[in-house]
Amino acid sequence: MNKTRKMIKNQKKYTPVIGLEVHIELSTKSKMFCGCPADHFGKKPNTQTCPVCLGLPGALPVPNELAIQNCVKLGLALDCKINKWSNFDRKHYFYPDLPKGYQISQYEDPFCYEGQYLLPSNTDGRDTEKRIGITRVHMEEDTAKLQHTTLNNPSGGESKKVSLVDFNRSGVALVELVTEPDFEQIEDVLIFGKELQTIARYLGISEADMEKGSMRLEANISLREESSDKKTLPNYKVELKNINSYRFLKKAMQYELERQTKLLLKGEVPSQETRGWDEAKSVTFSQRSKETAKDYRYFPDPDIPPIELTDDQIKKIKSQIPELPSQKAKRYKKEFDFPKNYIEILVQDKQKSQYFETAAALKPELAKQIASLMVNKNLDKDYPEPAGLIKKIVQLTKVDYSSTDDTTSAIEEVIKNNPDVVKKYDEGQGSVVGYLIGQTQKLLKGKGDPKKISDMLIKKLQKWGGK
Ligand SMILES: [Zn+2]
Repeated sequence: MNKTRKMIKNQKKYTPVIGLEVHIELSTKSKMFCGCPADHFGKKPNTQTCPVCLGLPGALPVPNELAIQNCVKLGLALDCKINKWSNFDRKHYFYPDLPKGYQISQYEDPFCYEGQYLLPSNTDGRDTEKRIGITRVHMEEDTAKLQHTTLNNPSGGESKKVSLVDFNRSGVALVELVTEPDFEQIEDVLIFGKELQTIARYLGISEADMEKGSMRLEANISLREESSDKKTLPNYKVELKNINSYRFLKKAMQYELERQTKLLLKGEVPSQETRGWDEAKSVTFSQRSKETAKDYRYFPDPDIPPIELTDDQIKKIKSQIPELPSQKAKRYKKEFDFPKNYIEILVQDKQKSQYFETAAALKPELAKQIASLMVNKNLDKDYPEPAGLIKKIVQLTKVDYSSTDDTTSAIEEVIKNNPDVVKKYDEGQGSVVGYLIGQTQKLLKGKGDPKKISDMLIKKLQKWGGK
């Protein structure tokens, strides 16, 4: 017992140090350096290729202007500085999904650098905003897609394990975003990923769908001693790669933090490597030891002239950035004071927030009911036009009053049945009106509009009494 307590007391404590690399496929019509269609998801393999994206000798790449603008747009949305003079580099490595033997990317002069993003407070005990540094946002081309599968032998022999290559994805415009290792909590990584996805959708540059692979998150994870200086990074890092959902990424990060803690407590240093996630076994596993920049032998691509961006061009791109989700969330909080979950749901989807704003502008006094029906009942799906939803809310909130005819006949009956009371009114006892209203409501089974009854009743009484 004593021994255990002593061990726990002496145990070192560690803080996670996590940085992210995010790849976002841009939804441009054509690929990054050729005219092939960029929309490759679910298409018949190798039907969208040409000499450029197949990496055939002598083919010349021509950069996609819109893709560059969209990359800059994302950088500006993340508060980055923009390189007015930039270029493309060749990143060399050998892999079957890379026919040229190099990937066209950016190295020394990315389009965007030194940005930041302020994460809102989280439910994991952090109640202030947290700054995440954005190291760079650069442009590159996607690789082909490998498919490891088993092929049946048509002549009935043994089936064969094969790796197939689909070049439809080869050369699709890809933005790579690198953060500083500023994350200290797993929840923040997930929040950032989702925020980034929403931002990409607000900017209209990508669907950023993890399941479809148009957004891919890689996390660099290590641990530092809690008491150590924040600026001194650990002497190793493990890269988590090829994880295609937030759920798996969360599990992989949790597993990795535990695995590394155990190694460090034993006095070992975890190896610098790339690890994947095995969902069946719920473990991360080693894929390869990590290359360093030196291994890639970067150099400027001689086939592509440097890219120059003018102040006017940058200004124009900036003017196309809409109100971003985090700004919108702050404004909703200030203007409407909705609960946090309302704001999150409304803001997460650009169309939903636009629908809400149109509806709230039509009937500002109903803003809260509109938000509630959209969040809790998804009524915006039933009423494609905001005006339709407003009509529904007005119907729901209005009591279904009796018609004028019914009210008139009820009043007449009450007057006829209560000659004594009417007489009192004629004699100047105005207070009896209340009794007569009550009797009328009784006849109308409570469905009368009190104001209307009162007005009509007084009119009738005056007529009756000849006043
Ligand atoms: Zn092509």
